[in-house]
Amino acid sequence: MKKRWFVLLLLLLFPLMLPSNVKAVTLREYEDALQQYKNELNDTNNKISISRKELEEIQKKIASIETQIQEAINEVDRLEKEIEKNNQEIAEKKEESKRLMEYYQISNGENIYLEYAFGASDITDMIYRLSIVEQLTDYNDKIMKELKELIRQNQLKQEELRKKQEELKELREQMKKEARRVQGNISSMEGMVPNLQGQLSEYQDKVTYYRNIGCAPDDVIGRDCAKENNAYGFVFPLNGYYWQSTGFYWDGYSGHKGLDFAQGCGNPVKAVANGKVYYVGDNKDVYGAKMILIVHNYNGRKVFSQYTHLSGYAISENENVQAGQLIGYVGTTGWSTGCHLHLEMSEDIGWDYNRPGNYWTYTDHIVDPYNYIPRG
Ligand SMILES: [Zn+2]
Repeated sequence: MKKRWFVLLLLLLFPLMLPSNVKAVTLREYEDALQQYKNELNDTNNKISISRKELEEIQKKIASIETQIQEAINEVDRLEKEIEKNNQEIAEKKEESKRLMEYYQISNGENIYLEYAFGASDITDMIYRLSIVEQLTDYNDKIMKELKELIRQNQLKQEELRKKQEELKELREQMKKEARRVQGNISSMEGMVPNLQGQLSEYQDKVTYYRNIGCAPDDVIGRDCAKENNAYGFVFPLNGYYWQSTGFYWDGYSGHKGLDFAQGCGNPVKAVANGKVYYVGDNKDVYGAKMILIVHNYNGRKVFSQYTHLSGYAISENENVQAGQLIGYVGTTGWSTGCHLHLEMSEDIGWDYNRPGNYWTYTDHIVDPYNYIPRG
């Protein structure tokens, strides 16, 4: 009963598992992608250099603002000293006037020491001296008034300079904020560069490789040129199959990582190319099925082929195999609903069971097996 529900569920899910968009890729599309990455990298580098110049300008402005702030501080100090000096002069003038007034008061009283005090020889002389005193105090008053006015003006100037300092400091903060924003942009763009360079070189390799093996611009890679030229030396892993039950549709995170070919259990499975057996055993993490992993060497590049859901093995680890050599038998072990072969291929790294944890690195290296093998 339970099993029947499971089968029913699978039947309901089956249409969803079908490849919705298995895209055939032509050499021209690879070339376009390569050009796009080149443009993007160029663009990014240009933007980085523009932003760097912008940052330089902002830093220059900040330096100039710092200078202006320092100048304002110095000017306030200078004015402060001037005010102090003026105040001192006022104090001196006050003291002088006070002294003069004392003499004046003495002279106006009925002081018998009048003559002695002013040292006047007679009354005319004394009056003359008194008028001098008056003139002097008037003069001092005038000087003091001027000094006070000078102080008032200097204080106003100081006030203005302090205001200017505040404005400059605010401007400096804005500039610093802007500098941080531009620096952030630069950092994030610089972060994108290695990724772009990686993609660019990956596509450069692909384009160079497919051009070298004679693919025409409109050839579908792995179908037209790879099959006709058979340049890879790859063969189909089965002696025919009933139907392709699931295609390749993998975006790096989800989908189906390989090709499923329905074929009777026990039928021979063959190595897709010359290579060395890398792993034989359970596909523990993904399917829990019997699997074989073979590493092939093509122009110095490692290419891996993985055969899963097998019913048995015909080779063992570290054995060298030839293209088309029997390696195992079709089965339905692990996560499978019928006898079929799951063929999965990757470039540079394989799904290494000896080093668990590299799964998500591996998934970025998976490729459509039809990039290599001919159609069966
Ligand atoms: Zn599969």
